[in-house]
Amino acid sequence: MRSIDIHAHLTPQCFWRSTENGGDWHGLTREQNARGHELAVIAGARSALPPRARYTPEQRLADMDSLGVDIHVLSPYSGFYNYHLDTAIAVATSQDSNNEIYDMIQSWPERFAGLATLPMQDVKAAVAELERVMVQLGFKGAMIDDKINGVTPDAPEFLPFWKAAEQMGAMILFHQGGNTVVNSRIKRYHLPNSVGNLADRAITFATLVMGGVMDACPDLRICLSHGGGYTCQGIGRMERTWHNRPATRGQSTQPPSQYLRRFYYDCIVYTESALRYLIDTVGIDRVVFGTDWPYDMEFDWPVSWILGLDSLTQDEKEAILWKNLERLLGL
Ligand SMILES: [Zn+2]
Repeated sequence: MRSIDIHAHLTPQCFWRSTENGGDWHGLTREQNARGHELAVIAGARSALPPRARYTPEQRLADMDSLGVDIHVLSPYSGFYNYHLDTAIAVATSQDSNNEIYDMIQSWPERFAGLATLPMQDVKAAVAELERVMVQLGFKGAMIDDKINGVTPDAPEFLPFWKAAEQMGAMILFHQGGNTVVNSRIKRYHLPNSVGNLADRAITFATLVMGGVMDACPDLRICLSHGGGYTCQGIGRMERTWHNRPATRGQSTQPPSQYLRRFYYDCIVYTESALRYLIDTVGIDRVVFGTDWPYDMEFDWPVSWILGLDSLTQDEKEAILWKNLERLLGL
């Protein structure tokens, strides 16, 4: 059976090449820790890169073959959003990264498609790069963080970006980068990742809805990674707030539950009951296949996991594994 993965990251070879022997990639550098693990160093902050982040396209394809994954809709490594750096640096790293994805698509058009990274700290520059990748490079959309230097996506300055993304038919994949909302409370137990990612995604859903973005852009296509985080589990409380406290409705014209089917959600929820609940809440046509390659939170055998789930019909498995993304992205 076909499978199309919308959540598969690329740490570009141009980063690895440029940072060889102490060099830098637009100011980003690389070092090894005491255990020999590779670390990206960005403005003094260090983030660990897993071994497969260094894979060449050929090694990636071999790994995809072993996993039974046909297509990676490539998105950049979220550590390279670079929203906190000078716009010129973010433009340069975005273009390098996006150009490398384009080269991979050109070389293996049956195996790769592309989501860009964008210099979101400058809306005009972000729109320009989105237009370049969509019009000139044939990308399917872009991946962006839940917040841009602490600002949520409902901020008025981003509306031109949402309008542009809608007009271009871009799929926008929301994916955390750097700190999550949990970091200021607790950094222990890996909670900024295991809980923070999911909280961030629910905040993104709520702000896009209550901030009026989904009403202002009726054709905007948004995919919430990690199953939308706590969106579906929290929708009842958001709904009650909307009804009981009308002053908190913001720009939204309908209760939050009415917007659930305006979004897409990847299947990275780890348990069968959570996936079943996601499907039953948002509809099978809204759930797409994702793996989080090549990070430690990736499913071990993602295609096998879906195929082995007793509570999903064969039609549902095919919809998630490939039919939905084939239709949505024209693959
Ligand atoms: Zn990811």
